[in-house]
Amino acid sequence: MKDIKYPPVQNYIGGKFVTGSGESFDVFSPLDGTVIAQSNLSTKADVASATGAAKLAFPAWSAMPIKERVQVFFKYKTLLEKHSKELSELIQEENGKTFSEAQAEIDKSIELTEFACSMPQLASGELLEVSRGVECRIERYPVGVVACITPFNFPAMVPNWTIPNALVLGNTMILKPSELVPLSANRIAQLLKEAGLPDGVFNIVHGTKEVVEAICTEPLIDAISFVGSTKVAKIVYALGSSNFKRVLALGGAKNHLFVLPDAHPGMAASNIAASMSGCIDKLCDEARKIIPGHNLGAVISAEAKARIENYITEAENAGAKILVDGRHYVVAGKENGYYVGPTVIDDVTADMKIAQEEVFGPVLAILHTETLENALAIQKKSPYGNAASVFTQSGGAAHYVSEHASAGMIGVNIGVPVPREPFSFGGWNDSKFGVGDLTGKSSIEFWTKLKKTTTKWNPEAQINWMS
Ligand code: NAD
Repeated sequence: MKDIKYPPVQNYIGGKFVTGSGESFDVFSPLDGTVIAQSNLSTKADVASATGAAKLAFPAWSAMPIKERVQVFFKYKTLLEKHSKELSELIQEENGKTFSEAQAEIDKSIELTEFACSMPQLASGELLEVSRGVECRIERYPVGVVACITPFNFPAMVPNWTIPNALVLGNTMILKPSELVPLSANRIAQLLKEAGLPDGVFNIVHGTKEVVEAICTEPLIDAISFVGSTKVAKIVYALGSSNFKRVLALGGAKNHLFVLPDAHPGMAASNIAASMSGCIDKLCDEARKIIPGHNLGAVISAEAKARIENYITEAENAGAKILVDGRHYVVAGKENGYYVGPTVIDDVTADMKIAQEEVFGPVLAILHTETLENALAIQKKSPYGNAASVFTQSGGAAHYVSEHASAGMIGVNIGVPVPREPFSFGGWNDSKFGVGDLTGKSSIEFWTKLKKTTTKWNPEAQINWMS
């Protein structure tokens, strides 16, 4: 058997790497299909052990003044900067995305950490003299032990949506990364330790369904965040809430783009969707410039490749026209990699599976409608509500779409409308279950609970405290 590049992937509990007690699991690089590491899937017992470590670390960490806690994250930010290239290469290797996409994850992780460093300014309490000699005070307390369950498509950025904010605010954490991309998470654990994070404040348990179910039912876990598919988001939200935990679960992110006839043709070069405005031929030319293995990464697994290609074939069989076909793509020298080429499908109708379900591959489905109203009706019928974008030069039309689309994030002449910090990320409908957002200012509500204290400072005054 060929040498495996990385040592076995272990859990990270109480500041130490320890082997999980479940079955062995191969980690593949989607770039060429080789096994790059072996991981041990964990069990309920591993979750209990990580929870114990997080619970033990909680009193000292939560009692530390926030201005002291934040110092760890100033250091963590500089470590992310210092190790940006190495981390980006690791993300690329385990996830299959391009190096520049991987680097964007680290850039975003740095921005998320910078935001968390402003928490002492943002999360201070409130105080008001509500009547003579009587004051009301509000202070924020951490929720406790929190667990974060993350997907494969952002091995570093999505964990960093939660790690800096939740920990700066005084919580201790268990991260459950996607079993498909466990390596970046473990490197993050090492950098947090190097930044000075006390042992037990951050823990990792690798695994799949069994670990997620154990997290949702573990009595000592107080809150759960989840990012992944809508199917699993619903499971985690239902199971976690029924076990009395605070849950915020982000689901599938199928996004809709509205391209109006007046969309700026000059945007075509850099933005596929915008280029659709000029003519569909131009869009196809742009799509053909996207070369797998060069400026397009691999998809995560052989199963994902088969699933995406199946969606394309089903659309073709249902009567859609395949203008650019990315099926059966082979990259020379990486014949075992999981590549799907850019695909453009025209004449898709709203009732086709490809229009309704999340494909999660480099596939653009084009639906033509006579009116903007009809396009909006199609968007609103979709169960997803992560994001919607409109391409137009008309301010009125842009405003109309932004007001009427049923999505939590709107782009105007931007294909992937992701708000930057301090603005929060989060969708609507079946793209998010729970209240608030995981990033930005609105995350403060999720990661803290409020204590309200009313004090009468002049007990000798003969007045009612309400007066
Ligand atoms: P997934 O739902 O399959 O997995 C997410 C996590 O849940 C992983 O850690 C996985 O191990 C675990 N899991 C998988 N099946 C489970 C089950 N049956 N029971 C309990 N836990 C289970 O998602 P994925 O394939 O890793 O990621 C892709 C999905 O994530 C896409 O749907 C994408 O749109 C979505 N996503 C959404 C956002 C967002 O912001 N809304 C961001 C990134 C990814």
